[in-house]
Amino acid sequence: TPASLGPFTVVLLGDNGVGKSALASIFAGASDSMGSECELYGGEVFEQTITVDSERATVTLLDMWDSQDEGSWTQEHCLQTGDAFIIVYAITDRSSFLRASDLRIQLRRQREADRTPIILVGNKCDLVRCREVSISEGCSSAAVFDCKFIETSAAMQHNVWPLFEGIIRQLCLRRDST
Ligand code: GDP
Ligand code: MG
Repeated sequence: TPASLGPFTVVLLGDNGVGKSALASIFAGASDSMGSECELYGGEVFEQTITVDSERATVTLLDMWDSQDEGSWTQEHCLQTGDAFIIVYAITDRSSFLRASDLRIQLRRQREADRTPIILVGNKCDLVRCREVSISEGCSSAAVFDCKFIETSAAMQHNVWPLFEGIIRQLCLRRDST
């Protein structure tokens, strides 16, 4: 088998309750490889080797962001170690959407002038009747902050793999252009 790219560290960010761990557990359950899993700093770390566009990439996914723990060492660690970020909000919770913009600003401040891939994720899109954030708001927020956008449902397993594949593609593209 050809050598795999990476390992890339991908960090999940976003308010508590938006579905980060639900997304991470789908990632952890990927069946095309033997993943590994461990606990670190009160969160979880998952490693998988995934094939995207016939390239193999090893991804370490960090699910340890605690939005209550403002300015903590763990938060600093997350912001500094990511090769890419997944910023999650729930489409049913406008405050989590506003928080996602704050996180984007915080990331840009902390890592100015780098081209770290970021995807803005509107999760819980199965809860159509409780929607507080429209698709077009999500889209335009991503455009303003110069990142990609996708709506997912961890509960329905909708768009979750396109999300992870998308971030891997961006990481591979960035590697190719340096
Ligand atoms: P975290 O705090 O960001 O890690 O959020 P969790 O993954 O623990 O999810 C918080 C709650 O939202 C749990 O009760 C999940 O079952 C639920 N949840 C997560 N994703 C979805 C989703 O896509 N749709 C629905 N309906 N519920 C979800
Ligand atoms: Mg969690």
